Amino acid sequence: ERNEVMEKLKTEKSKALFEETKMYLVDGVASSFHKAADEEYPICLEKGKGSKVYDVDGNEYIDYIGAFGPMILGFCPDAVNQAVIKQLDKGSHLSAVTVDLCNLSKKLTEIIPCAEKVSYQNSGTEANMHAFRLARAYTGKKKIIKFEGQYHGWSDEEKVSIDANFVSELGVREHPNRLFHSKGQRHETADDIIILPWNDLELLECVMQKYSSEIAAVITEPIMCDSGPILPKPGYLAGMRALSIRYNIVLIFDEVITGFRVALGGAQQYYNVTPDLAVFAKAIAAGYPFAAIAGKKEIMESGVQASGTFNANPIAVAASLATIETLEKGEIYKQFELLGNLLTKGIIELGQIYNITLFCHSVRSICMIVFGMSEPAEDFRDYIEKADSNGYKLFVKKAQEYGIRFTSKRGRIYLSSQHTEEDIMKTLEVIKLIFSEIK
Ligand code: PLP
Repeated sequence: ERNEVMEKLKTEKSKALFEETKMYLVDGVASSFHKAADEEYPICLEKGKGSKVYDVDGNEYIDYIGAFGPMILGFCPDAVNQAVIKQLDKGSHLSAVTVDLCNLSKKLTEIIPCAEKVSYQNSGTEANMHAFRLARAYTGKKKIIKFEGQYHGWSDEEKVSIDANFVSELGVREHPNRLFHSKGQRHETADDIIILPWNDLELLECVMQKYSSEIAAVITEPIMCDSGPILPKPGYLAGMRALSIRYNIVLIFDEVITGFRVALGGAQQYYNVTPDLAVFAKAIAAGYPFAAIAGKKEIMESGVQASGTFNANPIAVAASLATIETLEKGEIYKQFELLGNLLTKGIIELGQIYNITLFCHSVRSICMIVFGMSEPAEDFRDYIEKADSNGYKLFVKKAQEYGIRFTSKRGRIYLSSQHTEEDIMKTLEVIKLIFSEIK
């Protein structure tokens, strides 16, 4: 059985389908991240069930990409499917107040610490844009502090300094360059964005003090998930909270990744630091396009219009209610912790055996692996300078050939409630083989 598992998968149909798709669809993919830059062709998937996905060649993969985060309950979760099917019979979109909408809004205010009121959008990008507008309306100020390497969405104003091709592009640490990442971006839209390194409370205080009359908000991922495996230093989030109160600056937590994954009430519950506003997307509806902004009543009610044809689409609302009800039951977070530890400890041990420098850790359903470093990075720059990104790329490529899917994006590993101990053991077997090949 071992040899069967370890045989490299054949993916000719994926290759052919990608060639055809490219003829009609720009770059052959619906998101630039659906294919890694140096990948010849992406795997074309047919379906997903539980912790596994299946490609058009009939191969099975243990999946740790989780469709970039939403699949917290795995693929095709029964409870969510049933809720969606029930709603389909009542209409896919109504654009009106519904009983479910009332129930979901009430539920969110009960489980999310900062949520006195909520509002909805369809994606994290839109919800963060809405949060910016709320902060500006509430404070009457314009500037927003954003941290180097953090991604909050793809709009002109958000997609700034999220990545670096060359370390030299980043500029001076205390005054990082504003980097733009897409053709067609209007650079002047970032005139009001102040970029700072993360995890440096002293520098944050200097900047907040100096520009307090101009700064409307500071936005942060409470755990730096999207751009490297970086945890907040002890006291950093609480310090940020205290400073933002002192200087009348709205504190926004971007919980698009951490929301529902590290605790039902998000990282704000996990770290016991309550922001003024928080944004949720991805796992909030376990695979349906949906996002929520939650926060203090007086900020949420500062007169900002909530536009959007599909806001609070009833299918997504039904999916979200079913997701939260499922997460509330049983011991899902305990299970995340157990499996996360099993996987990360196993990877660390294999790294030691095969003499491969790596760092690996987990916060419940979010695990992280980085090659070339044996300690966690302090901030994005530290990560970019030290991490062996080519080593990680090779690891992802080989894992896929042996039936394990990891994201090509910087070592993020998502668990779902459907992953089992058996999945983890099988994954460690494959990693063992890969390490023995690349050591
Ligand atoms: N914020 C974070 C932390 C994210 O990781 C993402 C997406 O990856 C976004 C915001 C944007 O969310 P969406 O892709 O739903 O627009």
